[in-house]
Amino acid sequence: MDRIYQNIPEFRVQTRDGRKKDNNGNPITKKGDKHPNIVNGYVLWETVQLANLGQTKQLFPEYKSMHSQVLQDVIQRVQTTMDNFIKPDKNGKTSGRPKFKGKHYYNSFSYPQLSNTNIVKNANGRYCINLPKIGLVPFVFNRPIPEGFKVKAGTVIRAADGLYISLTIEDQTVPLRRAEIQPTEDNSIGIDLGLLHYIVTSDGEFIEVPRFFRKSEHRLSKLQVRLAKKQKHSKTWKVLKRKIAKLHQLIARQRLDWQFKLAYHLFSDYQVIFLEDLQIANLVRRCRAKLGDNGQFLPNGQSAKSGLNKSLQDAAFGQFVQVLEYVVWKLGKRIIKVDPKGTSQNCWECLNKVSKSLSERWHSCSRCGQELDRDYNSALLIQKIGLLSTQGEDITSVKTAVRVSQAEESRVVP
Ligand SMILES: [Zn+2]
Repeated sequence: MDRIYQNIPEFRVQTRDGRKKDNNGNPITKKGDKHPNIVNGYVLWETVQLANLGQTKQLFPEYKSMHSQVLQDVIQRVQTTMDNFIKPDKNGKTSGRPKFKGKHYYNSFSYPQLSNTNIVKNANGRYCINLPKIGLVPFVFNRPIPEGFKVKAGTVIRAADGLYISLTIEDQTVPLRRAEIQPTEDNSIGIDLGLLHYIVTSDGEFIEVPRFFRKSEHRLSKLQVRLAKKQKHSKTWKVLKRKIAKLHQLIARQRLDWQFKLAYHLFSDYQVIFLEDLQIANLVRRCRAKLGDNGQFLPNGQSAKSGLNKSLQDAAFGQFVQVLEYVVWKLGKRIIKVDPKGTSQNCWECLNKVSKSLSERWHSCSRCGQELDRDYNSALLIQKIGLLSTQGEDITSVKTAVRVSQAEESRVVP
């Protein structure tokens, strides 16, 4: 451990005034300020490396060809990855150990400060983006920059079918909308995400799971078999590798497109959507290894779950929730997440617990006589709990709803 620390001074002394200013126009950090390099036993690599960029360029002359802000951004990305690994988020979870990214795995770089003046027309009248240290690069707008918006930053992305630049734009005169629509029984729906049906809504719509990936899987596996027979890095190997990357890209694009259409479809008749607050990462996971008396591995259900994991990743619920959140913001509508505990077991009408295994698809309640599809029941229950939770009562989950209704019943009986 000590070897890591030996060349790192305890403090870094600032050599010039910082660029960020406070409300009075004075720089927040000044020349001569001391910044610690080690806090709570952790090296602040970001501070150390940013200060050492000059030296890095001397040690690795090829870095001189890269713009300083691009390099600074790379350091910040590494710092974010390290932070996510070390510091737990609000759910107490940390992300995985950072791994080294070689040049073939580095697919994007960012310019944190671009402006409208970086977009120019060249002699042939084509739109070009002027990237510092690279020069004029002709490009095509996939849509025009809206009137009044300023370009703030840009990220160059290498995709399977070419290079893209993603521009961040801003217009400070556009007000930030925050929708505070009060959900009612009529303007809201509950949705249940699942594998048998991608979505079941509380108004009884069953939406099928898209099988883009399964359909293309056959083609993909054929290409992969062919790839395995080729010599690595040979010409035909590269051609096949590219074909596979393009197929993956096609599947991802089809999925995203489908999810956007679905999100707009769901909001076409409603103002508020209630959905389960799912922890997708918990669903996609390997089963714990089961060991026998002699230390041999016993069947633990992983092969069955691999099929399930594949379907889960295919369905990409995490991405769908992100799409929903974006569409909600765009349309000025609202989504409310509901605690998923008990939503697949209890009865939506009387809250009676009807235990079912994953394979039982039907909900039949012995108490109130409800007979319906289990996922449809979940969607109705999600809407019910969501509505109760927004009506100022102390209900946040199925459990609290059951407790409240039992307390009411015991009050009525005597
Ligand atoms: Zn019931």
